Amino acid sequence: MTSSTEELRFVDLQAQRQRIAPQLSAAIEQVLSHGRFIMGPEVTELERELTTRTGAGYAITCSSGTEALFMVLLAWNIGPGDAVFMPSFTFAATAEAAALCHATPFFTDVDENTLTMDVQSLERSVAAAKALGLRPRVVTPVDLFGHPADYPPIAALAEKEGMLVLADAAQSFGAAVHGCRVGTLAGATTTSFFPAKPLGCYGDGGAIFTDDEELAMRLRSIRVHGKGATKYENVRIGVNGRLDTLQAAVLLEKLKLFDEEQATRQATAGYYSEGLASLLRVPGEALGVRSAWAQYTVQTEARDELRQALEADRIPTAIYYPAPLHEQIAYDSFPYDPSGLTVTSRLAATVLSLPVHPYLTQSERERVVTSIHRALN
Ligand SMILES: *Cc1c(COP(=O)(O)O)cnc(C)c1O
Repeated sequence: MTSSTEELRFVDLQAQRQRIAPQLSAAIEQVLSHGRFIMGPEVTELERELTTRTGAGYAITCSSGTEALFMVLLAWNIGPGDAVFMPSFTFAATAEAAALCHATPFFTDVDENTLTMDVQSLERSVAAAKALGLRPRVVTPVDLFGHPADYPPIAALAEKEGMLVLADAAQSFGAAVHGCRVGTLAGATTTSFFPAKPLGCYGDGGAIFTDDEELAMRLRSIRVHGKGATKYENVRIGVNGRLDTLQAAVLLEKLKLFDEEQATRQATAGYYSEGLASLLRVPGEALGVRSAWAQYTVQTEARDELRQALEADRIPTAIYYPAPLHEQIAYDSFPYDPSGLTVTSRLAATVLSLPVHPYLTQSERERVVTSIHRALN
């Protein structure tokens, strides 16, 4: 088999591991020997490191990006009769957290350039929710594929309507807007350390960022069954939402590679955009945005043919997302923008995510671009 036909990887966690295998083993061994598997010293150290890196006042690690969303909604006492607004073009977890609180997920459309929440659609949705007798309580913009949502107008509308902003930054840890880092762009920000996310551990994990001290205190309580001053004093209903010490130890090692990995993702995205912009719609970046490039997602009417051609050249791709939430069985009874979700529905049929992991070589980048040129010319 020649190198040009070798199967390219969509995500390459082994290449990353090879760079720091001895350090990872030592960090894991350290946890095994001190034995503090639950809320051990690595968890505290990671939280300190995450506040430094994001600039957020508080970082509360937790068991997943999904639990992070749920914990914030619990801390804000979101419940029946409350509307939580989010794009339909997202991963199910965004809406799941609201539904689990017995609130009403309300779906908005997205902007066709950044694929993040369309603010006009949000405005229409808030009016429609009020007409249905729901209380607008929370807006959950999603930093889809690593590109931060357009927070300033969303925050302005939220303020006018008395809503809180919860940023679903599961895909955008490391991104920034005009130098302000993800973690500081909303009242509360959640992220995920699922292995395939920009910063991933070796299992499930997540974190919440906020500058609100009172919220941070509530979240630390909710994370451990609503504990009070001690573990066996319960002052509210909580969850078991802790991050494992072992995962914190892994994340501390991986963080040392993170900036370099982000730079490599950016270089790949730049290379793709330059080589592909004449053939299909490449991802847009709003002014001042530095995306985390969790995914590099193009749009084309010839999506399915292109995917097949790339597969024949042993280049894996992915479709995020083949069906928007408002068209899924679990969520199709929830309300959405009365003007319709036209961009969302079109995206489901045209998006294709290309490999953008930080261990792609220059020749692999070239293979991807060449293969797409051959397929579409
Ligand atoms: C991955 C993801 C989540 C959930 O994170 P988990 O850690 O897998 O629970 C939530 N929202 C979005 C947009 C995601 O991509």
